[in-house]
Amino acid sequence: MSKKFIPYGRQYVDKEDIGAVIDVLRSDFLTTGPKVEEFENAVASYVGSKYAVVVSSGTAALHCVMNVLDVGPGDEVIVPPITFVASANCIVYMGGTPVFTDVQEDTLLINPEAVENMISKKTKAIIAVDFAGHPCDYDSLKKIAERHNLSLVADSCHALGAEYRGQRCGSIVDLSVFSFHPLKHITAGEGGIITTNSEKYAQRMRRFRNHGISADHVKRAEQGTWYYEMVELGHNYRITDFQCALGISQLKKLPRFLDRRRGIAARYDESFQEMSGIELLAVAEHVTHAYHLYVVRVLKEKCGKERAQIFQALRNAGIGVNVHYIPVHLHPFYRERFGTGPGLCPIAENVYEEIITLPIHPGMSGEDVSRVIKALGESL
Ligand SMILES: *Cc1c(COP(=O)(O)O)cnc(C)c1O
Repeated sequence: MSKKFIPYGRQYVDKEDIGAVIDVLRSDFLTTGPKVEEFENAVASYVGSKYAVVVSSGTAALHCVMNVLDVGPGDEVIVPPITFVASANCIVYMGGTPVFTDVQEDTLLINPEAVENMISKKTKAIIAVDFAGHPCDYDSLKKIAERHNLSLVADSCHALGAEYRGQRCGSIVDLSVFSFHPLKHITAGEGGIITTNSEKYAQRMRRFRNHGISADHVKRAEQGTWYYEMVELGHNYRITDFQCALGISQLKKLPRFLDRRRGIAARYDESFQEMSGIELLAVAEHVTHAYHLYVVRVLKEKCGKERAQIFQALRNAGIGVNVHYIPVHLHPFYRERFGTGPGLCPIAENVYEEIITLPIHPGMSGEDVSRVIKALGESL
């Protein structure tokens, strides 16, 4: 078995992308130059938001969001456990308390009914995670947020290009976050962005990404002044200009990337429908999925195999399967700091034992897809 290893995700970078980065390396600005604003405008225009604020990672973007909402000690923020740890960590950075709220069994997305049950006097915000690239039930979540006067945040790191009732992720709620890590839809090496329609939020997040300093260096140069004020405690969450050049170049390819991901998902869907022991996640009729991840459930009672056996068989066949995610509230940090643990989100905990992530990325060939389908069939 000397077959090429197929990773579950991988960036797709071409000559054009490389050329765009080199051009910036030859220019005057390595960091915070014209490409930053150009990238922000391109993403805002793509998702349909008024503003976008680009930062050094998706994690930094989530931190900016928690700061702009003034989350602090004593505040609770609702978050699902089936996500990357960063979705919850941002709450803890601010001294807030994450309130892990169970998911819907068929989609693994946060369950609006469960959200309503978890709201208390201390609740400040809800972070919805568009797991795998499937937008959350925003109609229900928005109603709940309005009813209880809460901010609704979308961690849309999986969902660039996804649509909910014809509206792109990034323009649906108050604040949406995307990541440009190499495994996401488009990459800037590292990077993240917040999209919003609030000018006030955008301004404050721009300040937070630059130490909390209220005027940027371009403005100071224009005004011919050395004076600036630091008005809150911020961070250096700036992104470089050459990363933004890569992001701009990648964004042009996003429609093709999405087509390819959707094409692979369609082949998987069709092939797995009849495989006994494999259950697909549900896709709501009114959404357009972005397929950052392709996740299936291995039903032991139907195929007689444990997820671990299927996982090992596929790895042995050179298929880079993975598991997304270990429920966040089961990690030692959360257990120790917040007393979370098994029993808190039973649906997430049970489904976690069954899920497996199969390779999906724009660089996969038709033959690669066939290999995954065949290997999964044989492993059963
Ligand atoms: C990737 C990801 C993040 C963090 O993004 P980084 O750019 O890696 O910091 C946050 N939330 C989710 C759901 C992610 O998948």
